Amino acid sequence: AEEPGIAPPKARISKDAIRHNARQIRSALDEQTALMAVVKADGYSHGMMAAAEAAIAGGATWLGVAHPGSALGLARAGFDVPILTWLFDPTTALDVLPELISAGIDIGVGSYELLELVADAGRTADRRARVHLKIDTGMGRGGVLPEDLPKMTTMIRGSDYLHAIGAMSHFHSADVPGDPSIDEQMRVFTEACDALADEVGPIPLRHIANSAAALTRPDTHCDMARVGVALYGYPPVETDLDLRPAMTLTTRVAEIKTVQAGQTSGYGATYTCAESTDLGLLSIGYGDGLHRAASGRGWVAVRTDEGMKVVPQVGRISMDQMVVDLGPSSTAHAGDEAIIFGDPAANPDVPTAEDWARAAGTISYEVLTSINARVSRVVL
Ligand code: PLP
Repeated sequence: AEEPGIAPPKARISKDAIRHNARQIRSALDEQTALMAVVKADGYSHGMMAAAEAAIAGGATWLGVAHPGSALGLARAGFDVPILTWLFDPTTALDVLPELISAGIDIGVGSYELLELVADAGRTADRRARVHLKIDTGMGRGGVLPEDLPKMTTMIRGSDYLHAIGAMSHFHSADVPGDPSIDEQMRVFTEACDALADEVGPIPLRHIANSAAALTRPDTHCDMARVGVALYGYPPVETDLDLRPAMTLTTRVAEIKTVQAGQTSGYGATYTCAESTDLGLLSIGYGDGLHRAASGRGWVAVRTDEGMKVVPQVGRISMDQMVVDLGPSSTAHAGDEAIIFGDPAANPDVPTAEDWARAAGTISYEVLTSINARVSRVVL
């Protein structure tokens, strides 16, 4: 929501970029491999609905989210592609499972306990639940270990309310091309899927590939690739595909102040001006989701009357503000647009979310999903 009296930070979301990226990624998959657009965490902060629409326009035929509530939101919005949700807390899952099953939403199930609840909920909804068995092939997070699958298959065989639609797993190091764990996880997954099919009949959909595997390992694509971050223009691996950052985070230069050499800026006085200079005050800070850890290491592109000017962010990032050093006798004015990150193809001087991630010692995923509700989204 916009704050009266403040030049508000904005995140411009390009649906064109997401659609374009989906098309690019689609072109890297075989025809028989479906593309699932992963739109969890509000579409990696781009807006779940806009991201879903754009990805489908670009060739995605499935939608994937972690949280069941997001899946229901997509179904209620009328998306008619299959929707998969995969994160449940068995202590509260029963609150939502019957509604998911009634809505025909696919459910990722990673434990025997949850599978029992899904079967119960199927009975309540009087409908067969569409289940994707989550297999832990090495991630050591959610999912059932291969040796515990037989107990699950016995239950599936004995229930009228469970339909095994898919088997899924997740790579832990697909962003490290050549890492031996990729082959090993793939081997474990294939063996587990084959054993599963022997027990409960053919599993229509096997899926394990995320963005990194979709871009680098065709041998892991199986029946579907679940692609998130690449869809938003941030491939976690080197790629020849033309992927465009879909979010442009901007604010305005709120104020410019000429200071003398020796002036420090911000908490802890970590920056000292070497000469007389113009400091630009931007109304954006860690309260909007920027990373304070990037303080003094990032940069910003300011659109001045005399063109785009790249300036360093200086001093500690505050909750609501941060400072850039515009240099002596700057041509910038209060009200100029400041681009925190965006698409360098649109303007080569613009930093990316990946640049801010490096500055903060994190990953682009976290930079994107940290941009919070105080930043208004403008979907283009
Ligand atoms: N599949 C699952 C189960 C996930 O949790 C995620 C996101 O972390 C993805 C796919 C998409 O991953 P990426 O954004 O790396 O494509």
